[in-house]
Amino acid sequence: MTDRKLNLILFGPPAAGKGTQAKRLVADHALIQLSTGDMLRAAVASGSELGERVKLIMQRGDLVSDDIVIALIEDQINQNPDAAGFIYDGFPRTVPQAEALDAALASRGMAIDSVIRLVVDDTALMDRIKTRFAEQGRKDDNPESFAIRLGNYNKQTAPLLPYYVAQGKLAEVDGMQSIESVSTQVGDVLKMIKAAKSPQKKGFFARLFSR
Ligand code: ADP
Repeated sequence: MTDRKLNLILFGPPAAGKGTQAKRLVADHALIQLSTGDMLRAAVASGSELGERVKLIMQRGDLVSDDIVIALIEDQINQNPDAAGFIYDGFPRTVPQAEALDAALASRGMAIDSVIRLVVDDTALMDRIKTRFAEQGRKDDNPESFAIRLGNYNKQTAPLLPYYVAQGKLAEVDGMQSIESVSTQVGDVLKMIKAAKSPQKKGFFARLFSR
């Protein structure tokens, strides 16, 4: 089965700029952003049973259970059968989540096309988070919770890198540049993926050579 839908993971530590880049991709390429962080924050804000269960875990900077986030993602994939594609932002964050996503996509005739890693050093992340905490007051941006989030990223999420390298899907982008420049680099990766997937492109070369 040829898989036409784009499935793109934005990967990187907390405050690397995944959300910012995901929103730009949504605007430029009509993709749907699936951010487990946003979904969980919405659950907390709504005071739902799920929100109550995850509230304190999130505030201290820990990861919520794999089952919860996998169910949220599958639900969104099911609710958007006509989407041109999906950008996963903040998911997967553990190896079991990555395996569950691969299985969920495979059972729907899809696969991850690329994992775009935003590379940002820890000092820059700390600076960004200080500014964001001052500006937005997000509860898990306080220094203690942020240190826990960064630790969890290094322990549980960074091991996904070899998982995707083994699949030949990892693309790296310098996330220390301006938002504009990062966006251009991400856009370039996307162009390559789209070109590789496009049947018109193959048709174009076939026509060229058959003249
Ligand atoms: P960040 O700025 O750290 O990337 P997010 O908005 O993606 O923040 O996530 C905020 C919090 O929501 C995380 O610290 C964690 O508690 C929870 N969370 C979000 N996505 C996941 C996930 N895929 N697995 C487990 N917990 C998650």
